[in-house]
Amino acid sequence: MAEPQRIVIVGSGLAGASAAGALRDRGYDGELVLIGRETHRPYELPALSKELLLGNAESPHPVHEPDFYESRAVDLRLGVEIAELRLTDRAAVDTNGVAHSYDRLVLATGSTPRTLPVPGADRARPRTLRTVEDSVALRAALVERPEVVVVGAGWIGCEVAAAARSHGAVVTVVDPVDLPLRRVLGPVVGAVFRDLHERNGVRWRLGVGVDGFVPGGVRLADGTEVRGDLVVLGVGAKPNTGPAERAGLAVAEGGVAVDAALRTSHPDVCAVGDIAAHDHPRYGRRVRVEHWANARGQGEHVAGTLLGADEPYSAVPYFFSDQYDLGMEYRGLADAEEDELVVRGDLGSRDFTAFWLREGRVRAAMNVNQWDDGEALQHLVDVQAAVPPEQLRTASLSDLA
Ligand SMILES: Cc1cc2nc3c(=O)[nH]c(=O)nc-3n(C[C@H](O)[C@H](O)[C@H](O)COP(=O)(O)OP(=O)(O)OC[C@H]3O[C@@H](n4cnc5c(N)ncnc54)[C@H](O)[C@@H]3O)c2cc1C
Repeated sequence: MAEPQRIVIVGSGLAGASAAGALRDRGYDGELVLIGRETHRPYELPALSKELLLGNAESPHPVHEPDFYESRAVDLRLGVEIAELRLTDRAAVDTNGVAHSYDRLVLATGSTPRTLPVPGADRARPRTLRTVEDSVALRAALVERPEVVVVGAGWIGCEVAAAARSHGAVVTVVDPVDLPLRRVLGPVVGAVFRDLHERNGVRWRLGVGVDGFVPGGVRLADGTEVRGDLVVLGVGAKPNTGPAERAGLAVAEGGVAVDAALRTSHPDVCAVGDIAAHDHPRYGRRVRVEHWANARGQGEHVAGTLLGADEPYSAVPYFFSDQYDLGMEYRGLADAEEDELVVRGDLGSRDFTAFWLREGRVRAAMNVNQWDDGEALQHLVDVQAAVPPEQLRTASLSDLA
């Protein structure tokens, strides 16, 4: 296949901007267009629920230095939203009807926060967190020390609760699941996060969902109400697959289906980041990962695919979070309800590493407030090492790796 002369990337978040950088790094010197509906140069999202919300930073980290786009001849078209893809004409058409033609197209449109379709939602206008504007507005509201209801005890909900407490707000977190982060971390490690937030003054309403918004708060499924001047939703995100779906690209796992090398069902089109339902060579199934490292890694990898390589993207998922004085990293992909949990260190003092094993092999590892073993943990997870639990608890991890 001839090398493309004109590559268009739709979505100017981390995945799209990383793809643009990697294309130039690999020597691609054809036309390169990066289209995004936001008006900011590409930036990273993690600070939006951490440093920016806490007031420790004024702006999120940029994906590239400001002069990158001009100096590397990346035609950055901001404030432009792609509405339709015309696959047979090789054109991405924006909401003004302008057609952006391409030889190869990369879709990197990310996700949009889910809302709660329950009575009163239209009037209550609960907040969500996805853009720098959302974060700046939420911080401005939090410094007023309102009573806050956070709906959803996942990563975003927990980080928002921690930031809200740091501003002195009264915070209640509601979730129909009985423990925060239980789906990812299981009951034992989920309880560590419940206790952490409790020690920092968060009130929990767990095991019961929100079934309506009422003036000054939310109503729960058990009929009780929780007061809140401010309601923040952290109930997950929906991949922005609209243009891809309307164009007839195959979808899976709620995202755009891509093969191991990140190609969609159309040979001219790739997809990366939050929207990509990736046929992961390590797991033998489709995996859609909504994390920073995946967006960057797939963005960089797709450059090779566009330029003719046929290499699978095989990195294991990785993510991180910071809440109060707890910092953590998670590597791999486990089923926390089914896999065997092995803990090294002390859960109570939040200074530990958790491993999840299946059939004696390490499927995932999470280090909490421990920062010396990253490489060893990466190796153990990468090779799914078979290590007896007792050794994981006590032996030197670098010796095991
Ligand atoms: C508040 C927050 C905190 C997070 N913290 C962490 C963390 O601590 N650790 C971690 O690992 N991950 C974290 N994540 C997740 C991580 O940031 C995302 O997985 C990653 O940013 C996804 O990158 P992306 O490029 O696929 O999507 P995005 O970053 O969402 O970028 C997609 C871009 O495409 C644009 N777009 C969408 N549709 C169109 C269209 N039709 N036309 C043009 N442009 C379009 C969007 O406006 C957006 O700018 C966090 C996410 C959020 C929201």
